[in-house]
Amino acid sequence: MRYIVGVDIGGTNIVVGTVAEDGSVVHGVRSVPTQSEEGPQAVLGRIARQVQSSIAEAERSAGVTRGMIVGVGIGSPGPLDREKGLVLLTPNLGWTNLPLRDLVSEAVGLPATLDNDANCAIYGEWWVGAARGARYVVGLTIGTGIGGGIVIDGQIYHGTSDVAGEFGHTTIDSTGRLCKCGNYGCLEAYASGPAIAARAAEGIAAGVATRLPELVGGDLSKITAQTVYEAAQANDDFALEVVRDTAKFLGAGIGNLVNIFNPDVVVISGGVTLAGDRLFVPLRAEVQRRAFKPAVERCRIVPGDLPGTAGVVGAVATFKNQMWGDI
Ligand SMILES: [Zn+2]
Repeated sequence: MRYIVGVDIGGTNIVVGTVAEDGSVVHGVRSVPTQSEEGPQAVLGRIARQVQSSIAEAERSAGVTRGMIVGVGIGSPGPLDREKGLVLLTPNLGWTNLPLRDLVSEAVGLPATLDNDANCAIYGEWWVGAARGARYVVGLTIGTGIGGGIVIDGQIYHGTSDVAGEFGHTTIDSTGRLCKCGNYGCLEAYASGPAIAARAAEGIAAGVATRLPELVGGDLSKITAQTVYEAAQANDDFALEVVRDTAKFLGAGIGNLVNIFNPDVVVISGGVTLAGDRLFVPLRAEVQRRAFKPAVERCRIVPGDLPGTAGVVGAVATFKNQMWGDI
């Protein structure tokens, strides 16, 4: 058995794991804060140390030897240039034209590949997760932002300049909220983690009755999407309304995707899946109201199966695909 190290670089954390080439097992999972404010060199150093540390644990705990490790698959926020291995621009990390693939490869002494982080997460779910074996897959990763990916016949669809799948920056309200990307009314401006928290805080400022302020000791700046789910779990009416509104916004965005792609599966991963059926039941109903019936009837809308490791496992799948041409 050969092994490949997967690296998932996020705005908040870097997650690393040593994955068997058939995707069956992940050894030595590491998660450390990205701390991108320290600059790319510091982040590269952290990536290299976590890769070595993950391999070392795989050696200790699973009898993996150095010679079995054949490469590193990297998932990074983009936009990026896969062919050149460049991260062109990442507002969240502050990187511009960074030759990430080759820098990591040199630092760890292994061949490396690069792809978009959301593409990796969706590819991981297609390879060994909730969308396993499906022919047409679209996916969304919902956290600090909303990323997306498209898998067709086992291949990630990248588009002509590696931008395809940016579902978070598709418009659901043409005169709506200003998004970080500069456009108005993007799905991300309504349904990302920070957007969910912002909508909750706005309701509180407008005087709705809710226990949310109690949960954060009165400090409204501490409200997160997770706080909203916890309050919804405790049947707080306003928190339930915020979750239902989130389902409506996501349902509008996903209804568009269902009509465009007619997929077998829409897989949703990230923190938002913690809301469970309180989100998924009204979300599916909203998609049903908006998209064509023959498309909705054949489409499963499901949470991801690989919480925390989809990006790592998928980065390994993209390594296999880029280096060997198959999975
Ligand atoms: Zn946007």
